[in-house]
Amino acid sequence: MQQKTSVDEMTKERLKEIVVHHFYSFYVQRNMTDMLDHVDPDVRWIGSKEHFIARNKEGFRSVLKKELEYVPVGCAMKVVSAETVQVDEQSYSVNGILELRIPQEKEVQYAFLCFTMVIVSEEEQYSIVSIHTSYHGVNPIGNTVSDKGKSVYFMAEDIYNQNQHDTLTGLYTIDYFKKEVKKVLEENDSQHFALICTNVSHFERVNNMYGLKRADQILSDLANMITSCSLQVKVSCRSVADHFLALVSYDSESELKETLARLCDDFGHKMKIRYPDARPRLGIGVYRIVDKTGEVERMVECANIARKSLRFQKKENVAMYDADVFLRMERVKEIENSMRYAMGNREFKVYLQPKYNLESGEIVGAEALSRWIHDDGTMEYPDEFIPIFEKNGFIVDLDFYMLENVCEMLRRRLQAEKKCVPISINQSRVLLNDEDYPKRFAKTLQQFAIPAEYIELELTERIFKEDLSEMARIMGKLKELGIQWSIDDFGTGYSSLNLLKELPVDIIKLDKSFLDETETSETSKIIIRKTVELTQELSKSVVCEGVETESQADYLRGIQCDVAQGYLYARPMPMCEFEKLLDEEMGT
Ligand code: C2E
Ligand code: CA
Ligand code: CA
Repeated sequence: MQQKTSVDEMTKERLKEIVVHHFYSFYVQRNMTDMLDHVDPDVRWIGSKEHFIARNKEGFRSVLKKELEYVPVGCAMKVVSAETVQVDEQSYSVNGILELRIPQEKEVQYAFLCFTMVIVSEEEQYSIVSIHTSYHGVNPIGNTVSDKGKSVYFMAEDIYNQNQHDTLTGLYTIDYFKKEVKKVLEENDSQHFALICTNVSHFERVNNMYGLKRADQILSDLANMITSCSLQVKVSCRSVADHFLALVSYDSESELKETLARLCDDFGHKMKIRYPDARPRLGIGVYRIVDKTGEVERMVECANIARKSLRFQKKENVAMYDADVFLRMERVKEIENSMRYAMGNREFKVYLQPKYNLESGEIVGAEALSRWIHDDGTMEYPDEFIPIFEKNGFIVDLDFYMLENVCEMLRRRLQAEKKCVPISINQSRVLLNDEDYPKRFAKTLQQFAIPAEYIELELTERIFKEDLSEMARIMGKLKELGIQWSIDDFGTGYSSLNLLKELPVDIIKLDKSFLDETETSETSKIIIRKTVELTQELSKSVVCEGVETESQADYLRGIQCDVAQGYLYARPMPMCEFEKLLDEEMGT
């Protein structure tokens, strides 16, 4: 049954193509034989003029001739809609609307041609048994032309300069827009120009909640607003979906910004009333054109970059292109393009920063920190790539890669009966959203046969928001394996103390900022001292990170802080160097 349906659909689609092709070859290419070769001897044509009627093939030929006289050379054609309806077993009726663009002296005239072509189709063969065309909304035999599904598609783009307008909004299409922009810029050397690019946020929501038709309405409304607002719009188009482009001229930049902001506000107000559940908003990216002879594509790209930067500024509706933003985005692209290759090429390295017992001076652990070392030896620090990986999800791969490398080192050392200390690994919040995380983690420990006490996991306090129960649940699952949890950057979030109550935490890492302030701030000293006391009373241990001076170390020793980590003792180092340090401690 399903197979039959798809065969039917394919036939309908094929016939639609055939019909459109015939009209194209006739009206645009002025080829009559194409159609004549496929008509039935008893074909009928009821044409666009009263006397354009044919009842057989001969009559058909003369109607075709007359029709061509009526439609001048250089006509372009666009299919507004086309639909195939099966009439009986072998007969199909293809209905639709064609837009014919007839070039006149100075302008282009538009004519909408409704058509119905009836075809008898058998296997791959077909013949045309009747054609009706009319230049009105209803075709001559009374069948209302359906625009259901609005299968708008274009033929042979660029040829004959057709396809200049977007059917939905009536604005130019992107290709035509670019040509026009170039022309306007060439002709107006003294004016200031900017290229703007719009985005309707929550447009998807409107689509889902109010349906396609009402979403389309937004686009038509926006097109009207852009062309009728007080902006000096020279050329405009809808590039794709809800993105419009416009070339505007302006006198002062501040005025331009104000006008654009007003346009966004007006749009927002209107839409709030019409679509209260979706509340679409308008955002605009602006590129001030400096070099008028430059590539239009590049100008569009810059306006788009500005538009995209709005995603990071919730309050603003208008963003001007900024070369720094562009460079940042280029950098993100570069990193994203090379990250997978880099992982396969083992360019990510585990650096280890030792942690020391403040009393004995002995190495009691280390923190694993990632470094990206390129083939040419240049090194990148995690602040460069971790935020990008957190956004695109690649951080999950990196965090597991770090774990595997640490496990591999521990296994090697355990095997050789060398000194081992617990290694802490930073865990991204993305991992905690992954249901498979605890299982995958357990499997890795098992694979390398690593006793869980050698692994400590750090979670920065900044990731903890209101709902701690879900995080506590996942953390609990890993804790069951025997690993230790550490709260990193302790004291920088909002509810530090609450975390100690709600989460299965074993260690806290006091943030470096407190330590930095101990020299000048009595309050910071008290906070550190009291936090150390409190966590020890709760049977948790404290690591102080970012220790840089002897006086800081003295102070920490004085308040019985257990462990310190910082440049004073050692910087993060390649794994082999850290192993050497451990070996030296053992005297091996
Ligand atoms: P973090 O976890 O707070 O790591 C401590 C950072 O402070 C490290 O920077 C370390 O090199 C630096 N540091 C250590 N001692 C001192 C000191 O005495 N003075 C100063 N000024 N800095 C010190 P790094 O390695 O650049 O790491 C930055 C951040 O990137 C880390 O902050 C961590 O949040 C994240 N990160 C690093 N590696 C990974 C990783 O493999 N996975 C995940 N998820 N995050 C990572
Ligand atoms: Ca850390
Ligand atoms: Ca930290």
